[in-house]
Amino acid sequence: MHQPTHSEHDNNYSAIIIGSGFGGSMMASRLTEAGMSVLVLERGPWRDTLPVREAGIEQRKPLPRTGGVLSALRSLHPPIGPKRGIRLNKYGYLDVWIGKGIKAPCTSNVGGGSHIWAAMMDRPAAGFWDNRATGLNDSLMEPHYQRVEQELKGVQPPDATQVPNHTDHAWQGESYFTPLNAGDQPPMGILYPEQAGAPQAVKDENGIVRMPMDFTTDHGMFGCPSGSKSTVDALYLLPAMNKGLVVKDMHEVQSFSRNPSGGYELEVHDLRSGHHVKFSTPVLVMCAGTMNTNYLMLNAVDTAALGTLPALGKGFGANGDLIAHWPAPDKPPRDSALGPPIHGRVQIKGHEDAAYVILVGGETPPVPGFLRRKARQRQQL
Ligand SMILES: Cc1cc2nc3c(=O)[nH]c(=O)nc-3n(C[C@H](O)[C@H](O)[C@H](O)COP(=O)(O)OP(=O)(O)OC[C@H]3O[C@@H](n4cnc5c(N)ncnc54)[C@H](O)[C@@H]3O)c2cc1C
Repeated sequence: MHQPTHSEHDNNYSAIIIGSGFGGSMMASRLTEAGMSVLVLERGPWRDTLPVREAGIEQRKPLPRTGGVLSALRSLHPPIGPKRGIRLNKYGYLDVWIGKGIKAPCTSNVGGGSHIWAAMMDRPAAGFWDNRATGLNDSLMEPHYQRVEQELKGVQPPDATQVPNHTDHAWQGESYFTPLNAGDQPPMGILYPEQAGAPQAVKDENGIVRMPMDFTTDHGMFGCPSGSKSTVDALYLLPAMNKGLVVKDMHEVQSFSRNPSGGYELEVHDLRSGHHVKFSTPVLVMCAGTMNTNYLMLNAVDTAALGTLPALGKGFGANGDLIAHWPAPDKPPRDSALGPPIHGRVQIKGHEDAAYVILVGGETPPVPGFLRRKARQRQQL
């Protein structure tokens, strides 16, 4: 296919980060703090949330809850079809990959997966980091967990009984599950109201404005317009932009290569203007999520731009291996859409030493009304 000629060649940054999810935003914030001139290239748009609006970002796109079904899907990557997938809506929220042995939803936003995450700040089992690499261990990692928990404002609800569907009280006496006690639940990146039912906007130490969660409206899994769920666009990128970080949204990196004279060269599609832009940088940080980082890097290996990397693409972490739906236990069924997206952890009775499982509720998907009503009476595991 003919591609327009490059209108720009930008080599003004000492580091370029691809992707603005958890990895990209935190890295951008740390490198900016360290005094580097940093550019984040993100293929998705800024989402229309209170903190983003209040920070004066003008070009915003709605979250799927107000944008409708079509705004939910960006592209599909079925097992057969074009190599780059089928693009449905460049402003869409989710990229869906369906391949042999792997199904992955990847978000496309400034803030990446933090708009879809359930805000649960869990830790791996004790000993996970011990000897994972030379010199690495749990105690070395501990201060990093603590710092991120604090930056993402992870807390327990002030009063779990005020939180609709909170695992601690909603699943007591249920035949299959035992909820963990409120105090043993992991912290959540949710801004809870001081007084239930009376949320008031708050401004944090960086001047970021958020509204605490109003449990009666759909706030959660597909994004929080109020900013009540912690997202990295609000908590990392906006403060770092005040210190010089540059974020270019709707900029999709198509490929990159190693520069013979050092550093990296990037081919980037500006999805708004349609222009193709070249960037070069001495430091390139890949934070495009598991699927898209592997995609970009495997392509770079294919074109011999990176040399061989034998371990690349081998060994994935998994998330959401088991998915089940069943009616909520109350009669009449409770409205599972109320409250935050995840209400905590449970154990399966008789398998108490097995991994904990997660109960998901919090939001109905952007589907027609009768399906939404059905979904509201169910819980997902
Ligand atoms: C439903 C759900 C609930 C979850 N809940 C939790 C939870 O409660 N707790 C928890 O710890 N984890 C949770 N996770 C997992 C968590 O969201 C991911 O681990 C995390 O988002 C990964 O961060 P990342 O920076 O690697 O990638 P992402 O957050 O996916 O960010 C990657 C970014 O790169 C951009 N990008 C991709 N390709 C390109 C390109 N070519 N050019 C430019 N930009 C590009 C994407 O648009 C995206 O913004 C959940 C995930 C899902 C799906």
